[in-house]
Order: sequence, then structure tokens, then C-alpha cells
Amino acid sequence: MKKGDGSIFLFVVQKHRATTLHYDFRIQIGDVLKSWVVPRGPSLDPTRKRLAVETQDHPLSYIHFEGQIPEGSYGAGEVIVWDRGQCLYPSDPVNQYGEGKIKFLLKGEKLKGEFFLFRTERQAGPKSKWLLMKKYDSHISYEDITQSKPSSVISLRKLED
Ligand code: MN
Repeated sequence: MKKGDGSIFLFVVQKHRATTLHYDFRIQIGDVLKSWVVPRGPSLDPTRKRLAVETQDHPLSYIHFEGQIPEGSYGAGEVIVWDRGQCLYPSDPVNQYGEGKIKFLLKGEKLKGEFFLFRTERQAGPKSKWLLMKKYDSHISYEDITQSKPSSVISLRKLED
């Protein structure tokens, strides 16, 4: 898979214990992080479809955020950087986003290889439902990486610590 335009894009997956435990899946499109809540977390198993509910865009600087969102703030609770790295697109990600099918290749520490996000509703934007899936390639795995690799990739902490 080739890059869209030669740019290097980034992604981050943050594990977040707010009202409920979930994973915030964020890929850079343009100069923002397009964001989805993935309740069960990403999978390297190509037979698994993970519900991904789009949320507000986040600034690129959020890639580094790990710590406590204070009580009284939206999303209050603990966040760890569960994975991060480069994200490559085979074609313009802005167009792909608009068309509701985003193909991308991740070079993270845990998530590697080709994935796609597929919108299951007509309208994009916050609260729209998508599916996150792994494509078949040499990086597939049938183990549950949310269970086998729970720690932060920057502090090695687990969310419980
Ligand atoms: Mn969250």
C-alpha cells in the first residue's frame, strides 16, 4: 500500500476508563485526529467487526495525552496510550472519509498492517456508526490483543495502576 501524498500521518489508540471502559481510536486526517469510540477495542482478527462510534475531532497534540481527566470534566477518568505510530493511506483520506470507507495501514507497536473503517449510516460526523475491521494480511492474529497486551506503550502502565 502506498501513501496518499507522501505525508506522514499519525494514529493513537487511547484506553479510557470513563463512565464505561472503551478505546478511543484516532487517525490523523488533514491536521486533526478523526476519532471513534471503540467499546471492545481494535482487533487483529479479520473475522471480527468492531463497532466504532465517531466522536469529536481532537487536536494532533492529543496523541501524547496520558493521565487523568479530572472529575467534573467531560470523559473524567484515567487514560493510557495503548498504541500509537504511523498511519498510511492508499489514497486521499479526506475523500475516503467523505465516502465512508477509509482504508489505512498502521505501523504501531501492537496494531500493524491494513485496516478499514466502514460507515454504516448515511451521515458522517459525531455519533455516526462505523465498523472497524482488520484486512487479511501477514499481520493478522486471532489472539485478543486487548487482553494479551494491555499496557501503555509510553509508560508501560496498565489502566488499573
Ligand atoms: Mn474516551
